[in-house]
Amino acid sequence: MVQYDYDKCVCATIVSAYLIKKYKKSLYVTLLRVNRLANNPFNDFNNGFQMQLILYYEMHYRLDASKSKYRYYLLNNCLNSLLGSQIQEHRTVLSSYLKKISKAQKKVTLKKTSIFRCSDCDRYLFSNINVIRDQRYGFLECDRIFIEPRKWMIQSLVNAAQDPEESTVHELCCDNCDIRLGEFDIVRKFGCICLLHKNFEDYLAFKINKLCVKRVEKVDQIKSLFMKLWDTIDSCIESIQLRIETLDFGF
Ligand SMILES: [Zn+2]
Ligand SMILES: [Zn+2]
Repeated sequence: MVQYDYDKCVCATIVSAYLIKKYKKSLYVTLLRVNRLANNPFNDFNNGFQMQLILYYEMHYRLDASKSKYRYYLLNNCLNSLLGSQIQEHRTVLSSYLKKISKAQKKVTLKKTSIFRCSDCDRYLFSNINVIRDQRYGFLECDRIFIEPRKWMIQSLVNAAQDPEESTVHELCCDNCDIRLGEFDIVRKFGCICLLHKNFEDYLAFKINKLCVKRVEKVDQIKSLFMKLWDTIDSCIESIQLRIETLDFGF
């Protein structure tokens, strides 16, 4: 028997989460079964709780940042919070989002195939994991790169809070060398009609100019590491040879 004193919606969500995990069935199947047996059917979910339960099942009952659906869920919450808060509070909202995503990233392996660095100072900015695009069109390219919010953007958010201009579009700058990398618009967001972005318009708030970043593929990273290792081995061999020659002189 399940009793609730205050919020029927919360109660139904907790019980459903328990049943979903215990019987390893989706929310839809769980609700069908429960409502067949219950006197008082569970139908009072709000959309937020419903989405969390769907994700809970799809992520196998744990937080999993490798699931893009979960990343978009967090991003959507973050953008709504930014929209609903004072511009001076944006820094706190962004920090809270970053904490959540970092927690969800801890226990999973993310497939990082490429990273992006500032073209001016080489600072690491983001990886393919943070890029918002329709994954079904992997080979397509667009002039613009849209990404999730990153920690280095905090300075740009602070600057925007001090900006007397009324515009909703603000500069997105590298926090290391201050070069302009793109712009952000939390209120209106940026539309893009290409296949990669047309279904993701709600998430296109942080835009990067392709020419302002350097893309490094994983293969290139490995090559560069190998070259460094090779250089080190080479200089070790050289110094050993030098040492042997010096020893020869001693005789
Ligand atoms: Zn830079
Ligand atoms: Zn596009």
